[in-house]
Amino acid sequence: MNARQPERIAVIGAGIVGVSCALHLQRLGAAVTLIDRNEPGNEDAASFGNAGVLARCSVVPVATPGMLRKVPAMLFGADGPLFLRWSYLPRLLPWLIPYIRSSNKKSVEHIARNLAPLLFDSVDEHRALAQGTEAARWVRSCDYVFVYESRAAFERDAFGWHLRQENGFEWTILEGGSIGEFDPALSPKYQLAVVLKDHGMIANPGRYVGDLARSFAAGGGDVVQENIKQVLAGDNEVTLKTAGDDIKADKVIIAAGAWSNLLAADLGANVPLESERGYHLELLGANKQPAQPVMDAARKFVANPVDGALRLAGIVEFGGLNAPPSKGPIELLMRGAKGMLPGLEFEAKRTWMGHRPATVDSLPVIGPAPGNARVTFAYGHHHVGLTAGPKTGRIVAQHVMGLQQNIDLDAFRCDRFG
Ligand SMILES: Cc1cc2nc3c(=O)[nH]c(=O)nc-3n(C[C@H](O)[C@H](O)[C@H](O)COP(=O)(O)OP(=O)(O)OC[C@H]3O[C@@H](n4cnc5c(N)ncnc54)[C@H](O)[C@@H]3O)c2cc1C
Repeated sequence: MNARQPERIAVIGAGIVGVSCALHLQRLGAAVTLIDRNEPGNEDAASFGNAGVLARCSVVPVATPGMLRKVPAMLFGADGPLFLRWSYLPRLLPWLIPYIRSSNKKSVEHIARNLAPLLFDSVDEHRALAQGTEAARWVRSCDYVFVYESRAAFERDAFGWHLRQENGFEWTILEGGSIGEFDPALSPKYQLAVVLKDHGMIANPGRYVGDLARSFAAGGGDVVQENIKQVLAGDNEVTLKTAGDDIKADKVIIAAGAWSNLLAADLGANVPLESERGYHLELLGANKQPAQPVMDAARKFVANPVDGALRLAGIVEFGGLNAPPSKGPIELLMRGAKGMLPGLEFEAKRTWMGHRPATVDSLPVIGPAPGNARVTFAYGHHHVGLTAGPKTGRIVAQHVMGLQQNIDLDAFRCDRFG
């Protein structure tokens, strides 16, 4: 390589994580190619259909102490937010067992402590990334509200709230009639609301990612539509295999979301990764919507007033990357919406299913591939990838460019799974 030439860096995956990596690298002066088999911001990406919340406070993973006791109600209860395609269970078990093991108090405290630095300044990180681009129009500051049907239900979540408090988050509690004064759209069945200030939302996550990618291209970045079949890391360069010509790069970032292991496994990485399938239901022309994102804490869905629609998003379904969407989750989201917003009517609806990239310990993998520093991993962001994408992109860009980091990446190493 000519020492005067900038390094050729390829980023695989144009979801929020890959696009953020590409933009931050470009801003540090690298020559970057952003590769996705689809358009940036496409519907296959989790980054398209998520709930749109910049959930700074989401340091608490889904799997917390006592989870096993709650699983039967979550799975079999009429409004349980957990779904399983039973035929997938044998394939899921090797992932599920260590995932459940990571729900103990000590592990969850470790997860929260390490998610906090990725999340706490995420609204600022999004603003900094989007500043001066078309994407800035989608970034909004707002409260984030959790609603409960009783104080007792809130108190049953004390472990998670305590963990948020320990990690620096504060909130206000509203009870009874004051909830209706705060947000008249919400059902009076909610007896307690937790209001967290200084959060944010992305009003159209898919178009946001598309706009960020366009600004990357306008800044001289290459956007290439290719399906990468294999990553071959050599001593002097990295070769990306496609159905056509190979793509060569000096360094490569794998940010392919829930599909990342299909590429990373060949490099000797042992990262247990599953798709945590999630759903959204968008209601167009809705006569009611909350003023800001609201999480129904029992049913585990968010109602968010996004660009031109009311988006209900959430659900955890295990069923792998290839099975078609199920009906149950959408019906559940519809029931949840009607329960949250009494008198809800709408003109039309849209539905979507996507894949959260889920590691067994609810922390992403950020850092070098095993045995070859030319490849960097940036995937596995579970429920918080939209929130943490820009910060991850900044960290990855600094790492790849050999700059000083002000975050300890040890908890994100790919070899932590043994
Ligand atoms: C229902 C739901 C609600 C959510 N709500 C929130 C929320 O409110 N806040 C939050 O922070 N997070 C939320 N999330 C999580 C968040 O959406 C994800 O963590 C995040 O989008 C992951 O981003 P990513 O860039 O890693 O992956 P993706 O967005 O999935 O992007 C991966 C990209 O890689 C491409 N790709 C894959 N393999 C290849 C290949 N071989 N060659 C070329 N391209 C390839 C894909 O086409 C895709 O574009 C939610 C997720 C779901 C499903």
